[in-house]
Amino acid sequence: MIIDTHAHVSDVKFDEDRETVIQRAFDSGIDRLIEISCEMHYWDKALELLKRDNIFVAFGIHPVHATQATATDYSKLKTLVQNKKCVAVGEFGLDYHYGASPQNIVAQKESLVKQLELATEYKKPVIIHCRDAYDDMIVFLKEYKNIIPKGVIHCFSGSPYQSEVFVEMGFMLGIDGPITYKKSDILKQVVLETDISKLLTETDCPYLTPQKYRGKRNEPSYVVEVAKEIATIKNMSVEEVLQITTQNAVEFFGI
Ligand SMILES: [Zn+2]
Repeated sequence: MIIDTHAHVSDVKFDEDRETVIQRAFDSGIDRLIEISCEMHYWDKALELLKRDNIFVAFGIHPVHATQATATDYSKLKTLVQNKKCVAVGEFGLDYHYGASPQNIVAQKESLVKQLELATEYKKPVIIHCRDAYDDMIVFLKEYKNIIPKGVIHCFSGSPYQSEVFVEMGFMLGIDGPITYKKSDILKQVVLETDISKLLTETDCPYLTPQKYRGKRNEPSYVVEVAKEIATIKNMSVEEVLQITTQNAVEFFGI
């Protein structure tokens, strides 16, 4: 039994065979799936997915869309978050990867505060996206520590020191396909040093395909590759890793 806690099955890359991919995930032992719906134009597609029993959703506004998001989008988001199968708000956060302008960074931070407040109001965990912005995120979260609900740093790719700071603040770390790459020494060190009770398994599909399937589109059934690599790093059995990380996800999302 395993949970993919971070999938984007609504993505256009699954338009041709979405039902087959979902069925393959459940047939391969994926127990539950959390769809991350963080682009406004995918929200309605995610609502469709919720008709299936074992699919839950997080609604949010991704930082790369922060400048486009309107007041109407935020009021729609507020309604979506109240859906009984919405188990988190996100992913939202900071993304400096594409050289965000100072104006864009202001918009990302405003969006971050709005969504933190929304999650607090409806008592939902948060899924934080952070790319090339870990130091800023740490400063920011420390400033807002009084309103931070429980959260996960999705697809963690920072340093061991940064991972410790987030874990001390109460965050979980999301581990994805890059853990299986040969050059991921720093990430492997983070996984080795972090207590397994703080780890969640994610795919971030259709992106970040694990090494075994590299070059192909990622999909929820490949999440087991992440668990296998965690088991190798921590010198545990795969079964034990699956059991613990599944339990972590069940408790974290309340599913
Ligand atoms: Zn994602």
